[in-house]
Amino acid sequence: MDSSGTVQNADALFEDLGRRLYLEAQIDIPPDVRAALHEAVARETQPGARGILTTMLRAIEVSDRKQTLVCQDTGIPIFWITIGREIAVDGAAMLDALRRGVERATRETPLRSSIVSPIGRKNRQTSSGEGVPVFHVEFSSAIDHIDIVMMPKGSGSESMSFLKMLTPADGEGGVKKFILETCVGAGGRPCPPTIVGVGIGGSSDLCMTLAKKATLRPVGQRHPDPAIAALEVELRDAMNSTGIGPMGLGGDTTVLDVHVETAWTHITLNPVAVNMQCWRGERRRARVYRDGRVEIGY
Ligand code: SF4
Repeated sequence: MDSSGTVQNADALFEDLGRRLYLEAQIDIPPDVRAALHEAVARETQPGARGILTTMLRAIEVSDRKQTLVCQDTGIPIFWITIGREIAVDGAAMLDALRRGVERATRETPLRSSIVSPIGRKNRQTSSGEGVPVFHVEFSSAIDHIDIVMMPKGSGSESMSFLKMLTPADGEGGVKKFILETCVGAGGRPCPPTIVGVGIGGSSDLCMTLAKKATLRPVGQRHPDPAIAALEVELRDAMNSTGIGPMGLGGDTTVLDVHVETAWTHITLNPVAVNMQCWRGERRRARVYRDGRVEIGY
């Protein structure tokens, strides 16, 4: 970047980040997810469930060693971008470059392109198409860099997405009932143990976005509001008492964690959304700083 904070060589920089983040998210599982799986093996009382969790950890080891994907599903590429203070970037060019990076990763690796048109089911073999990659862009005065998180969202977990436009009359009990019913109804389909994201409040679109964004939070990191943090623990323990277990085959570990995000809402509404992330919990992050540094992490 130059002294005005403008990103230099932005096209090449963001294209390479798009390529790296999409590929590496599918190979390198975040440390908090690994730790949670190890803890689950130690805690699990059912031998069959322990075996499945151990196999998951083995898949991660093989992926580390051979630099292969942990799962064959390359997912829907979703970027979460936060632009901080005093960084000048051509936003449209940045999104184009990130998209080209995803297409390059798909072509050069090569990766299975999981993206098709909804009518006609046309596959360009690029992991992209109209509206995909999905980009969420926000601005924050709390950071002085550009934060880019890639989440390749597998179909098994993404298909377990639920929204209900509850009302204040349904109360907290109605909220908890809906969330737990979605977990029980999902069974083994989202490839448990899952990271369950819950959105409460906002409009219908914001509520679902909050639920999905909640799955990005590292496992074990609690919401800063103690009441919401307590709700997360209560829901996690309730889901783990269902007996659904790893891959839905029974056991004590149905979820690795539950994360709740909230927004204020209309006086007559109380929307609730649930979005699940499968056991691989994939995400990869890049921080682009004003001095030109790029940090890759989770
Ligand atoms: S939902 Fe299941 S099949 Fe899809 S990416 Fe996750 S682990 Fe793989």
